[in-house]
Amino acid sequence: MNNFIDHNYITHLITQAQSTTAAVIDTILEKASRMQGLSHQEVAQLLFIQDAEQKERMRSIASAVKKQIFGHRLVLFAPLYISDHCVNNCTYCGYRRDNQFPRRHLSQEEIAQEVKALESLGHKRLALEIGEDPKHCSIDYILESIKTIYNSGDIRRINVNLAATTSENYAKLATANIGTYILFQETYNAQRYAELHPQSLKGDYERQLFAHHRAMEAGIEDVGGGVLLGLSDYKFDIIAMMIHNEVLLEQFGSNFHTFSLPRMMPAMGVSLETYPHLISDEEFIDIVAILRLAAPHVGIILSTRESKEMRDYLIEHGVSQISANSKATVGGYGEESSVSQFEISDERSLYQTMYDLMADGQLPSYCTACYRKGRVGKIYHEEVTAGRIAKLCTPNAILTTLEFVLDHGDERMQDMALPFLIKEIQNIPDEPIRQVAMQYYVRILQGERDLAL
Ligand code: SF4
Ligand code: SF4
Repeated sequence: MNNFIDHNYITHLITQAQSTTAAVIDTILEKASRMQGLSHQEVAQLLFIQDAEQKERMRSIASAVKKQIFGHRLVLFAPLYISDHCVNNCTYCGYRRDNQFPRRHLSQEEIAQEVKALESLGHKRLALEIGEDPKHCSIDYILESIKTIYNSGDIRRINVNLAATTSENYAKLATANIGTYILFQETYNAQRYAELHPQSLKGDYERQLFAHHRAMEAGIEDVGGGVLLGLSDYKFDIIAMMIHNEVLLEQFGSNFHTFSLPRMMPAMGVSLETYPHLISDEEFIDIVAILRLAAPHVGIILSTRESKEMRDYLIEHGVSQISANSKATVGGYGEESSVSQFEISDERSLYQTMYDLMADGQLPSYCTACYRKGRVGKIYHEEVTAGRIAKLCTPNAILTTLEFVLDHGDERMQDMALPFLIKEIQNIPDEPIRQVAMQYYVRILQGERDLAL
C-alpha cells in the first residue's frame, strides 16, 4: 500500500496558506458553519488565522457545530493502566525502556481490584492503556484482562489504547467486544518520527501509519487517531491527520471515530526544554476549533493533562469527550501505584468534576449505547452524518448521569442535579424521544439501571 502522507504536498499547502487573505478566511468560516467539513487547503488556511475577531467567530462556530452534532453532552471515561513494561524508547514518554524503574503488569486479581475501585467512583467507560512488550504484555494477556474487566462489575465499554500490532492480533482484539481502538501517530513528519523513536519496534513509521488499516481490515469497526502536540510542527500534523481521516473513509466507509489531542507534558526523564515545537494555549484552542470545523462528526478527546480552566473552555468550543479523575500509573486506583506516564493537571475527583460540569450547564455522560446497539463503523458514520446522533446523545447523557447522581452523589449533588436533569428532559425537542426519556428516568429512580436509547 502506498504511503498516503505526501510531505511535499503538505509543505506546499502550508507555504501557500501563509498569504491567505481575511476575505478568504471569511468564506471558509461561512462554509464551516454549514457543517460540510473543510478541504486540506482550507484547513491549512485556517491554521494561519490571525485576526482576533475572525478567531472569535471561528470558535463560536465550532461551539455551535459541536452542539448541533453531539448536543451539549460531554462523555467521561477513565484510563486504566495495566502494564508499564515497554520495549520502545519514545523520547517523550516516562515509560520508555531507557528509564530505569521497577516495572510491573497487573495480575488478573489486581485488575479486578482496580475495576472495583473505578466502579466505586462511578466510572462506566474505561480506556485500557498498555505499553508495548510482547513478552510481559502479550495479546493473550490483554484479551484475558479485557474479559476480567467485563466480568468484574458493570464497566460497560472498554476502549483500547494498544501499540501498533499485527493483523492476527487485531483479528483477536476484534472478537473481544471492545469500543474504539485508539492509536496515535504521534507525529506524521517521518524525519521527526525517526528522531523521536530511536531503535525500536515503534520506530517503523509505516507500521504505525497503516495500523488503523490493519485493524479495520481485521474487523475492528471504530478506530481513533491522534497526534502528540508539541513533538513537531503542529500545522503539518493537523493537515496530515485530516488526510489520514479521509483515506480511512474512502477505504472503509467510516473515518476516525475520535481524534485525541494530548499536549506534551513533563514526565520521568523528559524535560520540555528540549522540545522546540511546544504549542501555546491560544494555538491549542484554535486547533480544537479547526478540527471541529474540518471534521464536524469526529469526536475530540481531551485528557487530564490540561487544567480545569483549559478543559472548561475547550468543552465549550469543540471537545466531546474527557478523561476524569485519572491516574496515569499502573495500579493507580488501588493502594499501590508506580511511575506516571506523564504529569496530570486536572486532579479533581470524579464527584467534583460531575458537579462542576452540571453547575456550569454542561451535561456529563456515561453513555455507551451506540456500541451496544450496533451503531458502530459505517452505521455510526451514516447516523452521525445524517444528524441523528445528537437526538440520542442527550437523553442517554441524562439517564446515565441520573444513575451517577443516585448511586454516587450525596444530598448536595442530588439537590442541584435532579432539577437540572428534569429540565434537560423537558428541553428535548423531539416529543417521542422526550416521552421515552421521561419513562426511563422514572424507571431509573425506581431502581432499574442501564436503560438506553
Ligand atoms: Fe512505550 Fe507508548 Fe511510552 Fe512509547 S509512548 S515508550 S510505546 S508506552
Ligand atoms: Fe456516544 Fe452514541 Fe451515546 Fe452519543 S448516543 S454518547 S455517540 S455512545
